[in-house]
Amino acid sequence: MIYADNAATTKTSAAAQKAMLDAMEQFWGNPSSLHSPGQQAAEALASAREAVAKAIGAQPREIYFTSGGSEADNQAITSAARFGARRGKKHLITTAIEHHAVLHTMQQLEKEGFEVTYLPVDASGIVKVEDVQSALREDTALVSIMYANNEIGTIQPVSEIGALCRERKIPFHTDAVQAVGHLPIDVASQNIDMLSLSGHKFHGPRGVGALYVRRGAPLLTLIHGGAQERGFRAGTENLPAIVGMAAALEESCANMEKNSAYISGLRDALIEKLSPIPHSELNGDRDRRLPGSVSFCFEGIEGESLLLLLDDKGVAASSGSACTSGSLDPSHVLLAIGRPHEVAHGSLRLTLDEENTMEDIERIAAAVIEVVDYLRSMSPIWKALQRGERNYVIQ
Ligand SMILES: *Cc1c(COP(=O)(O)O)cnc(C)c1O
Repeated sequence: MIYADNAATTKTSAAAQKAMLDAMEQFWGNPSSLHSPGQQAAEALASAREAVAKAIGAQPREIYFTSGGSEADNQAITSAARFGARRGKKHLITTAIEHHAVLHTMQQLEKEGFEVTYLPVDASGIVKVEDVQSALREDTALVSIMYANNEIGTIQPVSEIGALCRERKIPFHTDAVQAVGHLPIDVASQNIDMLSLSGHKFHGPRGVGALYVRRGAPLLTLIHGGAQERGFRAGTENLPAIVGMAAALEESCANMEKNSAYISGLRDALIEKLSPIPHSELNGDRDRRLPGSVSFCFEGIEGESLLLLLDDKGVAASSGSACTSGSLDPSHVLLAIGRPHEVAHGSLRLTLDEENTMEDIERIAAAVIEVVDYLRSMSPIWKALQRGERNYVIQ
């Protein structure tokens, strides 16, 4: 099986697995206990916090461990919103292409009386800095814009947005779950106030993540209980997962340049091999995209069948977000870049990692070409397009 669905989750690296096993064997104490087993666990927790902080240019005391990217997004956005509301600020800004962990938190806040501006993106899947600037208001409590998109891989102008928000003293959060471990990040020079990350998107375990909160930025407690995470996130720490995440992140950061050059070479080769498919188009900007991310729309077919047939041929891919598969709604991200419903349904996302080879790329491309051809030969919509009874959306 060729695994090409790394935006959904990545394989846990050997380094992460080893760190987790070691932690289970050696650091089984409760980090809050005063005895030696507890203190050994507390030390392992502190080293993991240092490693995560270092990976994004933060201070260890600015890192809060969570159960994953979704919890980090919920806590960041809800905190900033409630904090703002206390000062009469009830306006939030985000984009139309965020992960549901952000979008659904925003929708919940709308029900609670907040006003949310959902910024559009251009056809290449990138938000315009001018649009962010003109959306800022006196009563804006938070700007939350993702670092890199999980479906189409586009990288947002985070540094420019950070500078804009800092100038206006408006908190800026970024969902960097797809970017951490893959792109160089420095929260200080990029003026990021809050950042979400998740272990299983960079070869760490799932069910663990972190929220970075710059000292002085608004943070409230959502999970109440013990005084863990300096009182901002109760619950006995999931130490094996935290330590495994830190090991995976250290490894990803140490190899980032090398991996990024290699994986983007594979990505470009795959884009080149798929582009000649008639009436198909790459989703998202050709260059401002994650090293491993390839997303296409193919006119006249249905993404779900494409995935099942690719799976039969030994290629594990996705139609968009893992979270929306199983639902019949087309991807909100593809709609936001202007794909009509019928075309958004014919999407394919292939996300690569450093274990993929050029041979994989050749096999993936051959399988996609064959399956697209086969599905089109059976598609009534495709036949109508071919007979000129319908107009192609993608030329
Ligand atoms: C995967 C993902 C999340 C959710 O992270 P979990 O750790 O799975 O909760 C949030 N945002 C983005 C962009 C993601 O890709």
